Amino acid sequence: MAKVLIRKEKKEFVKDINKEITIERARKYLVKDVSKDYQSQDGVVSKKDLKKKSGAKVLTNTKKEFTLLDADFMDLYRNMKRGAQIISLKDIGTIIAYTGINKNSKVVDAGAGSGALACFLAHICKEVTSYEIRDDHYKIAKENKEKLELNNLKIKNKDVFRGIDEKDVDLVTLDLPDPWNALKVVDKALKLGGYLVSYSPTVPQMADFVDIARKDNFIHIKSLELIKRNWEVEGRKVRPVTTQNVHTGFLSFFRKIS
Ligand code: SAH
Repeated sequence: MAKVLIRKEKKEFVKDINKEITIERARKYLVKDVSKDYQSQDGVVSKKDLKKKSGAKVLTNTKKEFTLLDADFMDLYRNMKRGAQIISLKDIGTIIAYTGINKNSKVVDAGAGSGALACFLAHICKEVTSYEIRDDHYKIAKENKEKLELNNLKIKNKDVFRGIDEKDVDLVTLDLPDPWNALKVVDKALKLGGYLVSYSPTVPQMADFVDIARKDNFIHIKSLELIKRNWEVEGRKVRPVTTQNVHTGFLSFFRKIS
């Protein structure tokens, strides 16, 4: 099992109110192979120490103390290999919240890309199948699925427009440049009342998709963009992080009604 080494890094500094404030930053390493010593920028942790129980305090050879933890899903997820641009966690969270999918849900996703969305959905759903047309992206998504040990996730190296094998699906998620071309096959795969969610980075893609999908057997529930701002919280320096990516994409939600 992979482990995490984590410690609070302290940095002292003087603020404008003549008060000394301690800033703490998390320093974290993911140790994927615990069968050998781990070399970090903070020194070496012996393989003997890496075998200790979660919560153990371990020292590097430069005498820095780390807490050893068992790596959890998010530790491994954040470390996943990237090929295509992945969908962000805020957007994944919104898809889950607005569709209410859970441990009983059957989901189809396309394109797999790096498999980020597919892996997260498989983490909470009963079964997920993701279609990917490109060989290189298929390989990356498959590798990520295997590292996360998601046995309920199937990645298929297929063009989704040519057909979806799964039936009676609770949710279909599309992250494609031309999602409208998938509507016919999505319609066949989705169960009545099932959800269709499309993620598009640009306005014309969203507009065209909503326009075409609502003429079909789908009812448009809503389209939205989620703006997330990260904040610095250091003493009295409490403000939004000055440079950050604000726009990711637009989400459009539909339900199949006939
Ligand atoms: N949601 C993914 C990223 C998808 S990027 C993630 O979170 O990791 C879009 C992917 O769709 C690309 O990998 C592209 O190759 C794939 N794609 C494009 N057209 C496709 C099609 N017709 N069938 C299957 N995959 C397709």
